[in-house]
Amino acid sequence: MKTERPTSEGERIFEGIAGASGVAIGPVHVSEAGSLQIPEYEIPKRRVAAEIKRFQAALDRSQKQLRKLKTKAASLPEAAAEELGILLDAHALMLTGSRLVRGVEQAIAAKRLNAEAAVQAAISEVARGFASLPDSYMAARADDVREVGARLIRNLTETPFQGFSRLQPGTIIVAEELSPADAALIDPRIVAGCATVLGGAEGHTAIMTRSLGLPAVFGVAGLLGGVTNGTTIVVDGAAGRVIVDPTPDTLRLYEGRRKDLEQERRQLRRIVTLPGETRDGTVIGLQANLELPREVDSALAMGAQGIGLLRTEFMFMNREAPPDEEEQYRTLTELVVAMGGRTVTIRTLDVGGEKLAYALGDQFAAPANPALGLRAIRLSLRQTKLFEAQLAAILRASAHGPVRILLPLIGNTGEVRQVREILAKVVRRLKRRGVAMADPLPPLGVMIEVPGAALTADALAAHADFFAIGTNDLTMYTLAIDRGDEAVAHLYNPLHPGVLRLIQFALHAGMRGRIPVSVCGEIAGDPRYTALLLGLGVRELSMAAPCLPRVKQRIRQIDITAASMRAQIIMAQADSGRIAALLDDFNALA
Ligand code: PEP
Ligand code: MG
Repeated sequence: MKTERPTSEGERIFEGIAGASGVAIGPVHVSEAGSLQIPEYEIPKRRVAAEIKRFQAALDRSQKQLRKLKTKAASLPEAAAEELGILLDAHALMLTGSRLVRGVEQAIAAKRLNAEAAVQAAISEVARGFASLPDSYMAARADDVREVGARLIRNLTETPFQGFSRLQPGTIIVAEELSPADAALIDPRIVAGCATVLGGAEGHTAIMTRSLGLPAVFGVAGLLGGVTNGTTIVVDGAAGRVIVDPTPDTLRLYEGRRKDLEQERRQLRRIVTLPGETRDGTVIGLQANLELPREVDSALAMGAQGIGLLRTEFMFMNREAPPDEEEQYRTLTELVVAMGGRTVTIRTLDVGGEKLAYALGDQFAAPANPALGLRAIRLSLRQTKLFEAQLAAILRASAHGPVRILLPLIGNTGEVRQVREILAKVVRRLKRRGVAMADPLPPLGVMIEVPGAALTADALAAHADFFAIGTNDLTMYTLAIDRGDEAVAHLYNPLHPGVLRLIQFALHAGMRGRIPVSVCGEIAGDPRYTALLLGLGVRELSMAAPCLPRVKQRIRQIDITAASMRAQIIMAQADSGRIAALLDDFNALA
């Protein structure tokens, strides 16, 4: 594994995982769960058991984080790894059957305190005990207790980091981990980049940084020990490198690189108005993926012909209660209107797994396998009131411009049938209310992102109006690699023949069923994969808006016949290394 490298001049180089390309140079802001708002309220007697369960879920999550940090620490130089390991072990110990844990459970049961307040009370008591000890080493343990408590409270409240908007422009955020909800609060006009200790390149936080055009590096071991607020660092997003206290030479080098990138971006802008056509005139539809409404301007500026994937999770993040139909309707309508007649593909709520939404708190009582649990369409079909409100909002928004409805994580045709029944009910209800909707009703499509769905895509094509192939989850579920886990990030590979065969199978099934098929996973936005996707027969791509110009540039270099022949050769291979070489060779010809 890669580690920190001190250099002769005193700058320190940390290697991590390339998250979002670009160069950021600036002072660090270390984001910690320091200034947490701690809610305090009395819980009714009947809720005591549920509150203790909620606390235990936060304990589990905290333990899991500590285990991940320890794995990460193992890649540091031996002495640092040992020191950090001891500290993390001490923290883990405080979370198992300790005075702290017992104190919290007692406070919930006896005083009927909510879990956050109970943790706060227990920390104060235990920390007071430590701090009063004459031994300075033991007294310092009080800080550890507070740190463990802050971790617990953050996991209980799922509080996003506060105060990003109060940062000085040009600041770089450094954190143990950023959740998608944290990333949603980042304003790229203020924040220049970010680097974290945990997290992989395919997680939703990484996706959001790419959409925001924010240089980012993830999975950087030992980073937090190497910086304090105000330290100057360089984030090299493409190389996955963080340089702390850069020398004047390094700064000059990266300033130059930043200028080159800016110039390249300006040149690429010229391509925005040109058609997305291959050399032989094959037209490729180019759409944008949107995580946040404020990306609409960038989608239009980059020449998006529509929104191929609107991730609606943003409406449920950083809030205590889910938005009602009216609020969702207003938000969606604004987007539809802003797209000025271009189609907006609205995906229904895709929470669960790594995308926890605090607003739905209770639904996520620590499933053993979050990625395989009650998430996405499964949750919507269980929480039908929530689902009906979202469908009603989408249908109402469809009166203001072309809209498509997209269902996440579909596994079988039965789920699509169930959705159609619920949709028909919502339509009847809206008609009774005399509400305007698109006529005909919006098409209903499914994400192909579960291997079982890809393998039965011919059956699904008979039930769905379009497919959107989600290669991020498809790769994760096919290869059994957690897309957000930096420890296995090196194994995550969309060029695995198993993944490619599923993409091809689903694509062909869609074509036979005469329904539109797009690819909207991250590979759609990476020009490295463009020739292969086009060669396989893909004609619609949806990606983070900043990726559109570069992918269009690649499309305009490609000859479809040559790409198809190369795709055929690639599909006959069983080794992903060979596939990568064949693809890279083909790309080098352009
Ligand atoms: C995917 O899984 O490829 C996808 C586009 O959806 P998300 O990244 O939101 O899970
Ligand atoms: Mg997905």
